[in-house]
Amino acid sequence: MTDLVLATHNRAKVRELSTMLHKPDLDLNVLSLVDFPAIPRIPEDAQSFRENAVRKALTAARETGKLSLGDDSGLEVDALAGQPGVLSARFAGESATDRENNEKLLALLRDVPERQRQARFVCYIAIANPERIVDVVEGSCAGIIVSRERGSGGFGYDPLFQPVEYSKTFGELSPRIKNRISHRARAMEKALMVLEKYLYTRE
Ligand code: IMP
Repeated sequence: MTDLVLATHNRAKVRELSTMLHKPDLDLNVLSLVDFPAIPRIPEDAQSFRENAVRKALTAARETGKLSLGDDSGLEVDALAGQPGVLSARFAGESATDRENNEKLLALLRDVPERQRQARFVCYIAIANPERIVDVVEGSCAGIIVSRERGSGGFGYDPLFQPVEYSKTFGELSPRIKNRISHRARAMEKALMVLEKYLYTRE
């Protein structure tokens, strides 16, 4: 069994990522930074999702001495020129709650008609060992921002994001469906191939 550290303290994310990594072929023991309380928070202040994911994966790998997976994700809204983007977690301020971020997003889009409310969730995943980055992959999921919060599942902007071809938001859809079509699921599909190759071709 190989230890894999998820470079996050976000328990909702750990739950989603662990479910996706549960593959008998890989035989991974999935840990997260919740299991390493002495490791300080890794800053997420880079200019791109990619840089943040790389920094998280490398820092976690060096601090723990184990293979690590860092992800960075967020929401890009066309009518807001790609905002909140890398600032998704702190859109309404440094320690903003999901509710405050959602309220700010709805306020900014108040006068934007439904046909112009296109958005996408984006996720970058980096895999690193203590020496180097193994690979970086990405995934995205397109949809629209609805006009009021719907559903209580998931986290973050889930109650406001309705993926294309669905009439329910991520907050209303079951975790099983979200975990199949989300940006994180799509990036993770590629990350699983990277992990498989890494684990089975290493000396
Ligand atoms: P990070 O990847 O932990 O930096 O997440 C950035 C922020 O993007 C989160 O705090 C959420 O606000 C938002 N976000 C990322 N993925 C999702 C998702 O699957 N659903 C809802 N919001 C998300």
